[in-house]
Amino acid sequence: MRRYVYRCTVCRTTSPVVHHLEDLAAAGEGHRLAIHGGHIPDAEAAGQVDRLGRWYASLGPLIAMHARIADGLSDLRDPKGIGHPFWASAAATLALGSAAALIFGLISAAL
Ligand SMILES: [Zn+2]
Repeated sequence: MRRYVYRCTVCRTTSPVVHHLEDLAAAGEGHRLAIHGGHIPDAEAAGQVDRLGRWYASLGPLIAMHARIADGLSDLRDPKGIGHPFWASAAATLALGSAAALIFGLISAAL
């Protein structure tokens, strides 16, 4: 389940989380029409966030990968919830650590 938010930096407000791109476009358009008379605020932003409300675009690649795995695991139990249960975060860390160990082992074996 993907999560998106619209952020108006002029009003310093963020829309509630929506789960479809069409709803994200409607949230942005609705805000522009209601508050700004249809004008587009400078530096407005819209994008995907993780279950903790962090923008994926602002995360580093490793943290973003961890967040995607933890989000996917958390969505198995609670598709529209927020936050990561401890087991999902731990499993994501274990998966990334295992992948890194496997790659390191393969490189070591090849050399
Ligand atoms: Zn605004």
